[in-house]
Amino acid sequence: MNYKLDDRVCFLKGVGPKKAEALAEVGVHTVWDLINYFPRRYIDRTSIKKVGELKVGETATVVGKVERFGMIGNRNMRGSRFVMVLSDGSGYLSCVWFRGLSYFRRAFSEGEWLAVCGRVEHFRGEWQMVHPEIDRLDDEGDAGFLHTGAIIPLYPSTEALREKWLDSRGMRRLIRPLLSLSKTIEDYFPEAFRKKHELIDLPKAYTDIHFPPTISDLQAAQTRLKFDELFFLSLMMAYRKRTLKIYPNGIAFEKTGQRVRELLERLPFELTEAQKQAAREIREDMRSPYPMNRLLQGDVGSGKTLVALIAMLVAAENGYQSAFMAPTEILAEQHYKVLQEYLWGMDLRVVLLKGKQSKGGREKILSDVSSHQADIVVGTHALFQESVRFARLGLIIIDEQHRFGVLQRSEIRKRAVESGVNPDVLVMTATPIPRTLAMTVYGDLDVSCIRELPKGRKPIRTVFRDEGARDKIYDFIHQQVRTGRQVYIVYPVIDQSEKTDLKAAVEAYQYLSEKKFPQWRVGLLHGRMKSAEKDQVMSEFKKGHIHILVCTTVIEVGVNVPNASVMMIEHANRFGLTQLHQLRGRVGRGEHEAYCILMAPKREMTDEAHRRIEALCNTQDGFKIAEEDLNIRGPGEFFGTRQSGMPELKMAHIIFDRPLLEKTRQAAWELISRDPQLRDPAHAALRKKFVEEYRDKFGLAEIA
Ligand code: ADP
Ligand code: MG
Repeated sequence: MNYKLDDRVCFLKGVGPKKAEALAEVGVHTVWDLINYFPRRYIDRTSIKKVGELKVGETATVVGKVERFGMIGNRNMRGSRFVMVLSDGSGYLSCVWFRGLSYFRRAFSEGEWLAVCGRVEHFRGEWQMVHPEIDRLDDEGDAGFLHTGAIIPLYPSTEALREKWLDSRGMRRLIRPLLSLSKTIEDYFPEAFRKKHELIDLPKAYTDIHFPPTISDLQAAQTRLKFDELFFLSLMMAYRKRTLKIYPNGIAFEKTGQRVRELLERLPFELTEAQKQAAREIREDMRSPYPMNRLLQGDVGSGKTLVALIAMLVAAENGYQSAFMAPTEILAEQHYKVLQEYLWGMDLRVVLLKGKQSKGGREKILSDVSSHQADIVVGTHALFQESVRFARLGLIIIDEQHRFGVLQRSEIRKRAVESGVNPDVLVMTATPIPRTLAMTVYGDLDVSCIRELPKGRKPIRTVFRDEGARDKIYDFIHQQVRTGRQVYIVYPVIDQSEKTDLKAAVEAYQYLSEKKFPQWRVGLLHGRMKSAEKDQVMSEFKKGHIHILVCTTVIEVGVNVPNASVMMIEHANRFGLTQLHQLRGRVGRGEHEAYCILMAPKREMTDEAHRRIEALCNTQDGFKIAEEDLNIRGPGEFFGTRQSGMPELKMAHIIFDRPLLEKTRQAAWELISRDPQLRDPAHAALRKKFVEEYRDKFGLAEIA
């Protein structure tokens, strides 16, 4: 067999167009992709249970021969099911399916070997598993492992793959003969590097990840492949960070005082120490000729906007424009108004660029931007569309970064660089990122942290209540409004297309406005409303004309109405932890006592929902909440994969592999400080891999 790694799979023996199609669906196009199709788990003798040793409730893997199978009951009748009985010499195990019956009817043949994995039950005197995972084994090669002690890889599968006989067994048959090719894989790590970090070589890692002779070989292979993933991720971050600090091609904002002093004198309060410190760090960055690339972390309400404004004033004083980018239009608008208030009477012009604006209005603003009539331009990501031309852009502020990713960040800088400047970038987030994640996702940024709230902020009393308390809560809301406060009542609309969710919010609004609080003005705000309607409602709420605002999560981030004192959240069980924390942050922004009331029907409470709500009731520290959130959800969801712009990790796990992550980070920094452009001939292969897999994907334009 003379295959090469970049051969397309359709040329492999036994792979026709149909199989190739099923493989393409899981991203496998070439032999190399196939070798990179890693097992989802492994079985060996030690991981197998005998039927005779099973315990009810445990999840177990059993290996045995198919004794018999068939339908019980009539198709389409309730309770009809497909049963397959497996025997392993110590007893019988019934595997039961209620769905996918037509598939299973042709899935088995008597006497064949299977590995099944599932939750063990005891039903009418028989051991059984309902809807177990099944993996076909080869009678001699695979099932023989019971005697030889081999380890069998089980591959991830899809229905399409199974249909085309590419289940675990099919994949094993396909991949095994190709592994001799892994010898031709070039190891981009020099031997000295491998020795130092105790890594096996890449060809062996690729062979052993599929067919490891022993468990320790498997572990060594896993470590090597995880190391590589995390290492290149770390290298990318180190590289980006380092590159910005090598070339003094940024703007040195020399003047840093006058405008800022003017602003501070007008403020009715003092900056907190943490704000001062952050502002100092930013001004330091701005003064230097290296482009700033800084993350400003601070809990909700810690006063980040003001710190950002200070940076924008420094830019303006030096004759540069600033772009202030928010994740949503509502927020952009709010920032715009807040900035206008702060800057009232100062000789600076702020403009707002919206998606939907009258043509004439938009053109006027665009021309103000390109003629430098505007000093600060607020908007969404639309700020970086083709049609927007800045006269002299010097500073970009990106608010609520968790909605934008690494990719967008470098995209934005790239666009600015193309137009001839290398602006300073300040990223702000109110969702503190746990350290491990920060190291990866924000590893290219310097970090300033505001871990202090302005003086006089009262803790927000957070409680969890069920339906029984509803009337009492409404009485309480009534009282609060009577003393002049305002109230949010939030409903979940998780999926914008989910009409029933929206209906619940609208119905609640009708009920509350007509039946419960006829004497107060109740407003409604949700994502499906027209932009002008939303504006109208929001501005009336801000002015205090609306007392109670029934809304969906459109108000989640950044909305600032200091007079609001109660945040009532319906179906709190359906919100994520960070989201709840953000929502809660909408109250407690003024001098009044503030409350957050979490409601959830008892029957809808899951263990996870309990953990989230408990965490929220117990602490108000955004950093602790973020850690807990990460623990509960895992990193993928924490970021909402797509938006994070993180490269997908196939092997490594950001939480469980944290020690390895720290190690790779160190290794990456060491490498990049010794050989910043990876010019050392010993690093040629490493450099090639890095350029191919990371530069192009992540817009590391700087690497030549
Ligand atoms: P963040 O963006 O960090 O959530 P904001 O910048 O919106 O917070 O600030 C929240 C509120 O606190 C605003 O009304 C702001 O004017 C006010 N504020 C900011 N800094 C201070 C301070 N040092 N002392 C008192 N109030 C402050
Ligand atoms: Mg903010």
